[in-house]
Amino acid sequence: MASAAASEVRSVAVPWGNCVEPSNVKAGGKACPIRLQCSGCSSYRPDPSHLPSIEDQVRSLKVNLELARAMSTADYTIRGREGEIVDYQNVIKKMMVKLESMSDEERHEVEKASKILRRLRAGATVPRPVALPMPVVRPAGEVRR
Ligand code: SF4
Repeated sequence: MASAAASEVRSVAVPWGNCVEPSNVKAGGKACPIRLQCSGCSSYRPDPSHLPSIEDQVRSLKVNLELARAMSTADYTIRGREGEIVDYQNVIKKMMVKLESMSDEERHEVEKASKILRRLRAGATVPRPVALPMPVVRPAGEVRR
């Protein structure tokens, strides 16, 4: 997009980047038509300042995949995790290629901005989990104690 301001108007924040899907942008990010499967979505615009977090996500998904395999879960759950890992690995690869194609000066600017953004996000993080009043769903027949 032509400017940062245009980008803000035509996108909405999603995990590790932005979404440009018009109906979701219009709904302020509350109308994703495919349940936030951003890594495999053509409307996803990942942000290089999130690269370390995306790498963490790939590691986390791999652990999750192994657990799913060990639990003999349904094939579609395994395939979904495998696909998400590949898609996030592709996101990382594309961003690295793009960074490498930049001049030293441009790359330095992006890396500097990314460090500042990460520091700001870390400072804005709530230091402890927030308890939300979520309902508890129990398997049928389980007795409440
Ligand atoms: S999956 Fe696609 S449409 Fe949905 S929030 Fe992510 S980028 Fe937007």
